[in-house]
Amino acid sequence: MKNKFRIDKIHTEIASESTIKKVLKFIKSSEIEPPYLLIDKNKVKQKVRSIGRRIRRSEVFYAVKANPDIEILKLINSIGIGFEIASEGELNILASLGVEKNRIITSNPIKSFKFLKMAADYGVSYYAIDSIDEIRKLRDFVPGCNVYIRLTVPNEGSEWPLSKKFAVEVDEAEELMVYAIKKGLNPVGITFHVGSQCTNMYNWDSALDKAKTLWDRAEKRGIKLSVLNIGGGYPIRYTKNVVDITTIDKNIDQLIQDKFPGKTRIFIEPGRAVVGDAGIFVSQVIGKAVRADENWLYIDVGIFNGLMESVGGIKYTYIVEGSKEVKKWTLAGPSCDSFDVIDKDIFLPDPKIGNKVLILSSGAYTISYASEFNGLSIPKTILI
Ligand SMILES: *Cc1c(COP(=O)(O)O)cnc(C)c1O
Repeated sequence: MKNKFRIDKIHTEIASESTIKKVLKFIKSSEIEPPYLLIDKNKVKQKVRSIGRRIRRSEVFYAVKANPDIEILKLINSIGIGFEIASEGELNILASLGVEKNRIITSNPIKSFKFLKMAADYGVSYYAIDSIDEIRKLRDFVPGCNVYIRLTVPNEGSEWPLSKKFAVEVDEAEELMVYAIKKGLNPVGITFHVGSQCTNMYNWDSALDKAKTLWDRAEKRGIKLSVLNIGGGYPIRYTKNVVDITTIDKNIDQLIQDKFPGKTRIFIEPGRAVVGDAGIFVSQVIGKAVRADENWLYIDVGIFNGLMESVGGIKYTYIVEGSKEVKKWTLAGPSCDSFDVIDKDIFLPDPKIGNKVLILSSGAYTISYASEFNGLSIPKTILI
């Protein structure tokens, strides 16, 4: 008997029914060999429009690192929002699309010389800082530029914490603002990141409280701020349900209204939430084995060519072309490295070799992390 795609209610809750329909239609009509990543254009558009809609005076900048595919960037560019970048490579792609300089900001607190030179030439005028050395670098490369200080905020409950590598406490942030002025820069505001895939809504509460403390301290020292950059962190659904964007944004908006002056510009830098749940990987079963009583399932996408985040604990949901019978599996990628194991003890239908496995919510931090390790090529991205 021929196997078919086993679609449950949970699948249509994670990726919408219309996205799944489009994906199945594409697979049926296409000759392209897996693995490849399909991105639902409508879903991206819908996400771009919903993020920040409930936050007054907000401006959205897509964090390019989540997925820098040129067709995705063209689509997002056509909607007219801005971009957050961190490297010369990311700036190059935006330059090739003719994105205006005032629609680009950069929030990586530690930037390379090469990138700074290029960003200065291009006319990018907003930069994040969290150290004295970065202020000195900016003085040399982009004199007079606008800077916002990256503040440490709790990252608890975020699946991909970012707090240790960057950011400073309030006292130090205040001193950095004063130092920036001394070096001829223009401190305009504060930024933070609550951690990527932030499933704890209260992280934004604590972050905004802390930003408010710094904002008032700056004011006392005669530094008038005008920009509050709340970073990214919006969660998407992988397996478990998450708080929806509207609820998060209404909460943020209320907090901002209560704490910050009426004219404050709010920057938002979503990455994952823009493209993550618009993406579905189409992979193929390349092997099966029983080893020490464990069922192993090998597919052609793994840790090195797309599913890097499973190392950090992201658990994907799969639609399998298989038989009715469900088995417990260890799911592994195609490379020869024993590190290349995607998930353990997951219950999935039993496929045949050559059957397809669809990986839901895989549009962000997948292809952008992928390498050609072991000669396995990086999967193509296709917009549908
Ligand atoms: C990665 C990153 C983002 C995007 O974060 P998401 O969790 O993907 O929304 C935004 N701002 C900065 C500075 C980042 O480094």
